[in-house]
Amino acid sequence: MGYVFAPPPQPAVPVADSGNLFPVHRIYCVGRNYEEHAKEMGFTGREPPFFFAKPADAVLPVAAGTVGEMPYPSETSNLHHELELVVAISAAGRNIAAADAVKHIYGYAVGLDMTRRDLQGEMKKQGRPWEIGKGFDHSAPISPIVRIAASGEIIAGRIWLDVNGAARQASDVSKLIWNVNETIEHLSRYFELQPGDLIFTGTPEGVAAVKPGDLMEGGVERVGTLAVRLK
Ligand code: MN
Repeated sequence: MGYVFAPPPQPAVPVADSGNLFPVHRIYCVGRNYEEHAKEMGFTGREPPFFFAKPADAVLPVAAGTVGEMPYPSETSNLHHELELVVAISAAGRNIAAADAVKHIYGYAVGLDMTRRDLQGEMKKQGRPWEIGKGFDHSAPISPIVRIAASGEIIAGRIWLDVNGAARQASDVSKLIWNVNETIEHLSRYFELQPGDLIFTGTPEGVAAVKPGDLMEGGVERVGTLAVRLK
C-alpha cells in the first residue's frame, strides 16, 4: 500500500564538521532549570524537573557562520528568547541511570526555545497546555550539532545571548539545577528515549522580548554559536 500523500520531509540538524545530518525524532524541553530564571518567573527553590515538548519540525537549523531567519509568529505581542544548551541523543533507553547517561549522548547544540510568553502566561493561568506558547512553527532555532567526541562532556562553560549587540543572558552551564545526566535520568522514566531526540535543557535568567528586525546571537562554550534574525 502507498501513502495517500507524500510523507513530510524528515526534520534534521547538520552535524558540525561533517557532511551528515542528525534526523530529529522528538524535541523535549526542561522548564525552569536555572535558579535565577526560576526566580524571574516567580518561582523559587529546586523542584523536580518538568518537561514539555515541541514538534520535531519546529527545528530551524542555522548553518555555522550564517544568520538564520525566523518569522515573527502570529497571535503574540510578547515573543521571548530562551538560549539553551541542547543535548542530542543517539542511543535508545528507558530508566537510564545518571551514571550511564553519557553513553546515550551523540553531541550538543545551541538552541533557542522561542516562547510566546503572553500566550504561555494565559495558558498557565487557566491551567491549560502550553502548546500554543511553546510548540509553534520555527520555535526551535538550532546550531549544528557538535559530536561529544569533539567537544567532550559539557558540564560547565559560559552560556550567553546578546540581542542587537547588547548582553541579555549570561550564565554558566554548571548552574543547571538538574544537570544533563540527571535530566536524562528523569526524562527516560517517562519516555523511552530514541536516537534523534533533542533535549533543550533550560534557559538561564535574562529572558525578554524581541521584535522583528532584532538580531539574537548566543552560544555555549565548547559547543558553538547561533545567530538568528527575526523578520
Ligand atoms: Mn526553555
